[in-house]
Amino acid sequence: MRTVRAVAQLRSTLEPVRRAGLTIGLVPTMGALHEGHLSLIRHARSHCDVVVVSLFVNPAQFNERADLERYPRRESDDAALAQAAGADVLFAPAVDEIYPAGFATSVEVFGVTERLEGASRGREHFRGVATVVTKLLCMAMPDVAFFGQKDAQQVVVIRRLVADLNLPMGIEALPTVREPDGVAMSSRNALLSAEERPRAVALPAALTAAARLVGAGERSAQAILAAAREAMRPYGVEPEYLALVAPDTLEPIDTLDGEALLALAARIGETRLIDNAILHPVTTNAAAAAHAPSQPVPGKAMTTCSA
Ligand code: AMP
Repeated sequence: MRTVRAVAQLRSTLEPVRRAGLTIGLVPTMGALHEGHLSLIRHARSHCDVVVVSLFVNPAQFNERADLERYPRRESDDAALAQAAGADVLFAPAVDEIYPAGFATSVEVFGVTERLEGASRGREHFRGVATVVTKLLCMAMPDVAFFGQKDAQQVVVIRRLVADLNLPMGIEALPTVREPDGVAMSSRNALLSAEERPRAVALPAALTAAARLVGAGERSAQAILAAAREAMRPYGVEPEYLALVAPDTLEPIDTLDGEALLALAARIGETRLIDNAILHPVTTNAAAAAHAPSQPVPGKAMTTCSA
């Protein structure tokens, strides 16, 4: 695996690959790699000829300075993990390589950024995400970029900007990888204390309760959300938001008559966690349980390098 830090070096590494007609898969990350990230890298490895992993803690998407400062950074461990999972190129730029002096452009997606994470974290969060992802896509020019369904709203925002800016690559979302107790893997889990970690089960518990109720035939968003909220109570965790929305537009829905995205965020101590699940009204009880968070939540099938 080759580690590159400069955009020019990334381009000169990938240019011959493209000229040889080989496919390039990009996995953007902020590091502190865990099984969730590694599942994306392995998937890219099995579908693309050359796998690029980017490692960049993007200051522009942090609305709280303390959150940025606390964010775990361990590049040498990450490099070893990325390589073992099949990365060919690790792009690990410094902040001023991405945002050099005089940088003055940002990408802002409207309509799907105002709710959920956008409402909680402010406009600058998705502006920062959209800007850095656009830059990474333009730098690597992959055939496909791989993202986790764990950040469901981020996937919607990225699909929107890729379509709107006519960027010539596929975006593929892959299922959320979870710990044995159902908690979604996240770099932020490492920030939870021993007392806080068990309380993080509140998030998948809310998703499981909602999926069960839907499996039992409930269609009212109000009832589904109430059950999800109730399931968090034993853990002493209040959601920052808990919403049932259309998976593509993120518009709130009142009655479940097609697939719906149940998304939530909650703070456990100082650490803010998010999670989500796709709910299917046609599923039976057993199928609902299969979609509950102890199992991966299906992402949307999309283009792959080998497709
Ligand atoms: P991050 O480093 O948190 O920016 O995440 C980098 C990529 O990994 C994003 O596309 C995330 O959605 C994805 N990701 C993070 N956690 C998980 C997980 N538990 N399962 C699958 N993908 C994940």
